[in-house]
Amino acid sequence: DTLQAEPPGDAPRAILSRVFGFPDFRGLQEQAVGEVMAGRDCLVLMPTGGGKSICYQVPALSRPGTGLVISPLIALMDDQVAALRQVGVNAGALHSELEPEDAARIRADLVAGRLDILYVSPERLLSPGMLDRLSRLTLSVIAIDEAHCISAWGHEFRPEYRALARLPEHFPGVPRIALTATADPRTQADILDALAMPDARVLRASFHRPNLDIAVRPKISEMRQVLDVLGRHAGEAAIVYCGSRNKTERVARSLRERDWPALPFHAGLSPIEKRAALARFRSGEPVVIVATIAFGMGIDRPDVRTVVHLDMPSSPEAYYQQIGRAGRDGEKSETVLLYGGDDIARARHWLDQSSAPEAQKRIMSARLEAMIALTETTGCRTQALLACFGETLATACGHCDNCRNPVASFDGTVDAQKVLSTIYRIGQKFGAVHVASILRGKTSDMAGRWGHDRLSVFGIGKDKPEQFWRGVIRQLIARGIVQVSGEYNALALNEATARPILRGEEKLMLRVDPTDDLRAAGTRSN
Ligand code: ADP
Ligand code: ZN
Repeated sequence: DTLQAEPPGDAPRAILSRVFGFPDFRGLQEQAVGEVMAGRDCLVLMPTGGGKSICYQVPALSRPGTGLVISPLIALMDDQVAALRQVGVNAGALHSELEPEDAARIRADLVAGRLDILYVSPERLLSPGMLDRLSRLTLSVIAIDEAHCISAWGHEFRPEYRALARLPEHFPGVPRIALTATADPRTQADILDALAMPDARVLRASFHRPNLDIAVRPKISEMRQVLDVLGRHAGEAAIVYCGSRNKTERVARSLRERDWPALPFHAGLSPIEKRAALARFRSGEPVVIVATIAFGMGIDRPDVRTVVHLDMPSSPEAYYQQIGRAGRDGEKSETVLLYGGDDIARARHWLDQSSAPEAQKRIMSARLEAMIALTETTGCRTQALLACFGETLATACGHCDNCRNPVASFDGTVDAQKVLSTIYRIGQKFGAVHVASILRGKTSDMAGRWGHDRLSVFGIGKDKPEQFWRGVIRQLIARGIVQVSGEYNALALNEATARPILRGEEKLMLRVDPTDDLRAAGTRSN
């Protein structure tokens, strides 16, 4: 007769059902828990909402000792602690925004070995006395949440995470589990390297989110387009991402003027303003948060029905994270990215001007170009996005914009020649709006002053609408055939790639831009 060494209630599956009320592990949770239970290190890559917390919470309760969870975000820690306390787990968090008496109580519980799980920010962990105090305790597991923050190449790098490499010196033999929703192979390698866990088992879930409808639209009129999308989601929660603080304020104001419950959110708000915005967002009421990327990690509202980007994210990883804030409850949700040639040019320009080390700039540039390629792709968006993370989706998703409305392409060689000649003839000193208006043969003060209305290219594109020419220009920028520079976003030719097209030595296929907003035609009554 074999008696179990531990009380049967402590087995992981029993903890899962007794404490958390889940009958079964989901996806890779069981394997992750198994690794930790066996005392081995592992790295868990799961999309947001995949159920990462269970991977360390169950072993923390199942193994003897206190579970240590390192997390970069105070709001996230407080949420987790509150949820754990609700199910009877003695959890606590130590971070900079704690009342002194609360901190003292948690410290006393910790020292007495009464704490099941301790959440701590990396700064607190490394503060004087903390490591000492912890090293006198038995730790069941060390969880490193948001582990991508350790990667200098990642989009959310936190230098303090670097010091986590030294954890094994302080806590030999305690299994470590690193968790992240960032999927790209480079970050994964960085995490293993920085945490000095080359032999850790890597458990990687699929990042496919079938309930997300991805659409990418050329920017025509931001406000009209965002209102179009929001109009399909009245009474629901939405996030609108903007590239700058000013823009979040401006867009939120315009939306409020049209009676949308819109709030700006960015890093320049005071802590009180931030907390108020978050409270409204979390309350479950319909709200449109108009935010910079500062509105990010740890934002946990399951029923966000739409995420709109008014500016292009810096990488497919950032894009995935941001659209991933929609539909965490698994219900159908819509994401729309608006982008234009100016965005592409601006993003490239900023990167160029950045003072980052060359090696880092190269990687950032590769990511940006991957993002640009994603916006211009004619194939399935979901497939293209997952491919950025090294994941192959066997069949097209069937519900992204390109799957719903297959993109036609056309031989754009002659149109490109017209654009390139115009840019050249007006001295490569003018922006896209002016170039398009010369092509269309629109008289203007500027055209008159510079004599552009007397050039042979004036009006050579009269047969096509303004929007068509903007689209051709955007695609030429995206492909690096036209470059943009200076404070006026002047268009210039990239000699090497423009010349073969101008000479007719190379054919250029272009995508046909959609003329109206996706699905709008089908859902509007007029
Ligand atoms: P992540 O940290 O990966 O974003 P969470 O740990 O917050 O995800 O979990 C997401 C949701 O999934 C939570 O609502 C959680 O309660 C639920 N969940 C996690 N594991 C299970 C499970 N085994 N069975 C059912 N629901 C689960
Ligand atoms: Zn698709």
